[in-house]
Amino acid sequence: MTQPITRRTFVAASAAGAALAASGAALAGCASSSAVDTAYAAEAVNTQCAACPKQCSYAAYTVDGSIDKVVGNATDPASAGALCARGYGMATAATSADRLESPMRRTDSGSYEAIPWDEALAEIGKALADIKADKGAAALAAIVPGTSTADWYTERFMNALGSPNVYLNATTASSSVASGLALATGFTSYEVDYAQAKMVVILGASTVEMPDPGTIASLEAAKAAGAKIVMVDSRMPASASVATEYLGVKAGTELALVLAVARGLLSKDDLANAAAAEMEGLAEWERALASYTPQWAASVTGLAEDRIQSLVGELAAAAPAACIDLTWMALFGGSYGNSGELARAVALTNTVLGCWNVPGGAYVAAPTIDWSATAMAPIAVEEADATAAEYPLAAAGSAAQALRLAHDGAIAGLILVDANVVAEYPDPDYVREAVEACTLSVAVTPEMTETARCCTYVLPEQVWAESAQLPVVTGAVHPALKVSLQVIDPAVSEARSVSQIVEGLAQATDTAGAFSFTVEDAARAACESCGCAYEAAAALGATSLAPVAAEAVVWPTASGKVECACAACETAGYTATPTWVEPSVSPDALGYGYYRLTTGNQAVQATTKTANAAPVAAIAEQYGLDGLWMNAAAAEAAGIAGGDKVVIENEYASAPVRVHVTELIEPAAMYLASHYGVEDDEQRQADGLGVRQARFATFGLEPGYGAPLLQETMVTVGKAGA
Ligand code: SF4
Repeated sequence: MTQPITRRTFVAASAAGAALAASGAALAGCASSSAVDTAYAAEAVNTQCAACPKQCSYAAYTVDGSIDKVVGNATDPASAGALCARGYGMATAATSADRLESPMRRTDSGSYEAIPWDEALAEIGKALADIKADKGAAALAAIVPGTSTADWYTERFMNALGSPNVYLNATTASSSVASGLALATGFTSYEVDYAQAKMVVILGASTVEMPDPGTIASLEAAKAAGAKIVMVDSRMPASASVATEYLGVKAGTELALVLAVARGLLSKDDLANAAAAEMEGLAEWERALASYTPQWAASVTGLAEDRIQSLVGELAAAAPAACIDLTWMALFGGSYGNSGELARAVALTNTVLGCWNVPGGAYVAAPTIDWSATAMAPIAVEEADATAAEYPLAAAGSAAQALRLAHDGAIAGLILVDANVVAEYPDPDYVREAVEACTLSVAVTPEMTETARCCTYVLPEQVWAESAQLPVVTGAVHPALKVSLQVIDPAVSEARSVSQIVEGLAQATDTAGAFSFTVEDAARAACESCGCAYEAAAALGATSLAPVAAEAVVWPTASGKVECACAACETAGYTATPTWVEPSVSPDALGYGYYRLTTGNQAVQATTKTANAAPVAAIAEQYGLDGLWMNAAAAEAAGIAGGDKVVIENEYASAPVRVHVTELIEPAAMYLASHYGVEDDEQRQADGLGVRQARFATFGLEPGYGAPLLQETMVTVGKAGA
């Protein structure tokens, strides 16, 4: 499906887009403008949204100790003066009716009893020490949410215990994308300079659906300036309203398009000659690409052969202010059996385009907080990452493999910080068994969740605005140091900040020496390492840092160049240079009547914690966002009409759901938004909304890369009661 985009036609067709458009009004009390009302008598404090790793900066206005209004920080390139709908929804988190009010210990009957903090910390500390003495520090692991304070404090604590096993929750991670990029370039992320780009081909946008407001603003500016913005996906996301063209492909086939584009670009002498100086093993990759013609890619993706050909010409003409953008494919690490190899191919193709760290291109190198020269320098650990043996291509280990090791008994102590893994990973029952198999499992969370419900201890956490946080540097094109202060007093007196919880655990495990400073001390050191004073940075909320220029980029690879061939990939079962890898399952192979059940975020949903935010749940219910997307032609052939109640089914699960019939998804795929279908009685805001897509997938991981294969599952569909 090829479709030119206009905002008017798209918003009219998309329930998600309509919900986003309405979100400002629906989230009462939250401003959607960066204009500050001078007649408004309130205190303003700079803080951040913690609903995703972008950590958008905003000013929180308080009246009588409560947040009354939030205004996005215009100097933060991520928020650009606004928050997304998820961010506005999460701004109400402190007043949730579902906050936990006390530490809890699981009893033999499976219920929970409230216990004092001292008792909880002492018992957890003893259990950690016992596991370490019995099985070694390698039997301890933690999964963290991707936000600055929780990640840093938890990793430091685990390292102080002697364990390197700290993993980013795959729900918020782009682990396969990061790993594939790292194998080729040595860097683990990049950011596109949308505002100055002449052409961007965005892959996998539907997994994020709607990125941060700054990205949307930059894309709108690029579109207005005449840039070509092409979205390639199996489902047309709400954010396609800022694209100039949408190319619908069969789900999981983007790698075929990239290989054909790379082959075409390398036939241009100017690009190939420039790339040869920057890349190691380019001739080997060029030979491997020989059979990936536009005709072949058309047969795999479903795109028109001539459009693939013309894409090559357009990208070549726009280079170096052109790139392939994989940074939106952030959910669940990648989700397909070829996501890591797709990332490797994209990294190499972008190198051929010459786009790295040049205006209009994509920035891989970026400034970071350097703790090494501070009193909070990283703690060295001798043990090797427990997940590396099975998943050596994962740049920062595999959270999913850590759960498998817990299931099999190799990991006995698990700390889960804002990580609702039971709700978010494939096969919730398997993940529940993994958590329950641990001798010790600790959930640090503001609310009861499916994961907390099977942990041995549940510790009530303050929400972001209730304490000071560590700064973060986000962005590479316009990097910014962002500082977040305490905005309000904790609404729940017994809740503690994640830094307080970790400090308590450190005291209970004789590792308190690793935390001989306050959050403010660490925040000050972080700011100074970036050349900024803490107080001044706090007053601004977001401070611009200098980007890394192209001539300053040093490739942190063995050869000092971008590397086309990878021996570890070969060992893991791939080819040395990236080539075509079939998705793990295929509706074509199973025959008529099977559909790939895809998933992804919505404009109003990022994680299970946004699902239970009352304003977000209200939007989802009002606009029917929790329904099943089905292609119009496929629905007609199956005798299904929009609004029908259908049953989706496979060998793992069966559930009734309302169907949304649309042209905006490819015929062989269906889509259920992530994070609906809560299964814990205490998540009352989201109760009754939707079905859990993860129930329809088995606990399979991407070979070598270790990301959960959430999109690699097939279902059948039929009318309920038929
Ligand atoms: S959820 Fe939205 S507002 Fe919050 S950090 Fe992410 S992009 Fe920014």
